Amino acid sequence: MTQPQNNTAIIGAGIAGLACARALAAASRPVTLFDKARGPGGRMSSRRLPEATLDLGAQFLSVRDATFADALEGWQASGCLAEWPTSLWSAAEDGWHRHRDDLLRLCGTPRMSALTRHLAEGLELHAGTHIERLEGDARSWWLVDTEGRRHGPFTQVVVATPTPQARTLVAPHDAALAEACAAVIQRPCWAAWVLFDAPLPGLPEVDHDWQAVRLADPALRFVVRNHLKPGRHDQGESLTLLANLEWSEARLEDGPETIAEALLDAFQRGLPGDVTLPEPSAMGAHRWRYAQPDVFATGEAVNLDYRISGNGLALCGDSWRGPRIEDAWLSGHHLGEVLASEPNRSPLSTPDASRRKGHLAP
Ligand SMILES: Cc1cc2nc3c(=O)[nH]c(=O)nc-3n(C[C@H](O)[C@H](O)[C@H](O)COP(=O)(O)OP(=O)(O)OC[C@H]3O[C@@H](n4cnc5c(N)ncnc54)[C@H](O)[C@@H]3O)c2cc1C
Repeated sequence: MTQPQNNTAIIGAGIAGLACARALAAASRPVTLFDKARGPGGRMSSRRLPEATLDLGAQFLSVRDATFADALEGWQASGCLAEWPTSLWSAAEDGWHRHRDDLLRLCGTPRMSALTRHLAEGLELHAGTHIERLEGDARSWWLVDTEGRRHGPFTQVVVATPTPQARTLVAPHDAALAEACAAVIQRPCWAAWVLFDAPLPGLPEVDHDWQAVRLADPALRFVVRNHLKPGRHDQGESLTLLANLEWSEARLEDGPETIAEALLDAFQRGLPGDVTLPEPSAMGAHRWRYAQPDVFATGEAVNLDYRISGNGLALCGDSWRGPRIEDAWLSGHHLGEVLASEPNRSPLSTPDASRRKGHLAP
C-alpha cells in the first residue's frame, strides 16, 4: 500500500486535538482523529438527561489572546457560541457582589459541546476508539486500540490528551516526552449536578436571574444555573456545582451521591440571608480525574505550547500551556500550524525536529 505523505493521527478530540486537526486540514494535510468517548469534546462535553442538559466540565470560555479572538468570530457567526454569563456574582461574608471585569466570556449553545461538534465537522473522527498503545518508529506509526484493532500507518502521531494518558502512550517510544508528561500534574475535580422542580427562591440584593456565582467555600468554588444558559430555556432549574481541587483530591474515591450532597450543603451555607433551598428532585456527580494542569515542567512549558520529538510524536493540550479552553486551543492550533508548515516528507526520511519551536532537547 502507498502511504500518504505526512498523514497524521491525533489521539484525543478535545478542543486541542480538534484545533490541531483543523490547522492541518486547512493546509490540505490528511488527518484522522481518534477518541475513546462517544463523540468529540473531552472536558467540554455535556451530559444530556431527559429533564435537562448539564455542562459538567468547562462552563464558559474566556478570551485573552488575539489569535483565539479571531477564531471565535467565525464560531460565533455559526451560532454555536453566545455571550455568557452576563450576570456573574462572587460570594463574600457580607453577601453576594456582582463580578465585573473586561473579559469576554462565551458559552456553547445549546450546550458547551456545540463548539467542539462544530469544529469536528468535516474531519475524520473515529469515536469510541480507545487507543491502548502505539507501534512503530520514526518511519511509520500504528495505533492499537483496546479491541486489538490496528489503525495506520501514519507518519506522525499527535497525542492531545491529559499528560498521564499521554505518558502511557509515548513512554515505550520516547523517554524525554514521557519525562515531560510526568512533570505536569493534572489535578482532579468533582462536578455535581442538582435538579429542582421549582425555581430557586430570590436572593436579597441579587439579580432574580443570576447565572453563576464564585464561592469562597473550602468545598465549593463555582455554581452555574444551566437553564439560564443560551438555548436552554425549555429546562427547569438545574445547577452545576464545581468543587475545589484540594477538596476533590481528598475525596477522590467517595461516591457521587455523597459528593453531590456535600456540595449542595456547601451551596446552602453560601447563600446570602436566610434563604433555604427547595428539595432537589435529582442529583449526582461526575469525577474528572484529570481536570486541570497544575505544575509545569521546569517552568518552561508555559512558553512552549506543545512538544515535538524527532521520531514523529508530538503532544498538545492544556497541559502544555495553561488551565483554560483558550490555552488548549492555542496549544493544538500552534502545533498544527508547525506540522503543516513542514515540507511533505517521504515516510523514510528523518524529520528535522531541531527546527521546531516545541522541540524537547534530549
Ligand atoms: C470541571 C471543569 C471545569 C472547567 N471549567 C473551565 C471554564 O469554565 N473555562 C475554561 O476555559 N476551561 C475550563 N476547564 C478546562 C478546560 O475544559 C480544558 O482546559 C480543555 O477543555 C482541555 O482540552 P484538551 O483538548 O486539552 O483536553 P480534553 O478536553 O481532556 O481532551 C482529551 C481527549 O482525549 C481523549 N482520550 C484520552 N485518552 C485517550 C486514549 N487513550 N484514546 C483515545 N482518546 C483518548 C478523551 O476522551 C478526551 O476527549 C474546566 C475543566 C474542568 C474539568
